[in-house]
Amino acid sequence: MQNFDSMRKRMVETQLIPRGIKDPRVINAMLKVPRHLFVEEALWNQAYGDHALPIGEGQTISQPYMVAIMTELLELKGAEKVLEIGTGSGYQAAVLAELCAKVCTIERIGALGMRARKVLDFLGYSNVAVRTLDGTYGWRDEAPFDGIIVTAASPDIPRPLFEQLKEGGRMLVPIGDRYLQTLTLVIKKPGGQMITKSSIGCVFVPLLGAYGFKLDGRDNG
Ligand code: SAH
Repeated sequence: MQNFDSMRKRMVETQLIPRGIKDPRVINAMLKVPRHLFVEEALWNQAYGDHALPIGEGQTISQPYMVAIMTELLELKGAEKVLEIGTGSGYQAAVLAELCAKVCTIERIGALGMRARKVLDFLGYSNVAVRTLDGTYGWRDEAPFDGIIVTAASPDIPRPLFEQLKEGGRMLVPIGDRYLQTLTLVIKKPGGQMITKSSIGCVFVPLLGAYGFKLDGRDNG
């Protein structure tokens, strides 16, 4: 039986802290959420490695550092409502659920949304709502959001998402082409003005939908 607690501690000490993750709340969430349960059992021994992993349907669970830096840049204090586009395994949603009041997460592939819901229920994350749809339209009934996190590569900032961001809110989007992106922090100033700041380079699977990339022969679904 592997000791997942000590694997998580090592992950934090060797992958997150040396790369500058500082927020103690983010570090505690990364120490707590059992990442291995979000991948298939055959991959449990790799679940705390410094890389993304396949989750089926041609999709991936992001590298732990990517989850940590995106979460840290949202600067959550505890009372926020956050929208995630790209539920995937549900792991990022669980980390967010440790740090804010409510997480609304959208996945376009039904089988992934259902599996994420099951794991989140098993772990008791009743403050996460999962929906299966094209997330580039956002979630109008739940808007506005204090934070929005897009965990798939986007050609641009999806307009409906910026509209559904609160004034003063923060949004993270990997912006670029299908193969390489720049993690971009988007801040909506009081009055609605947009400020963008480039963070690190990254590689995500594509955001497919009305305000993302167009679905073609390469894509699932
Ligand atoms: N955050 C996830 C990893 C996401 S991988 C985790 O923690 O595991 C990106 C996910 O975005 C994939 O599951 C993909 O199916 C989904 N996706 C792509 N385009 C989407 C869209 N328009 N709306 C919702 N989900 C989308």
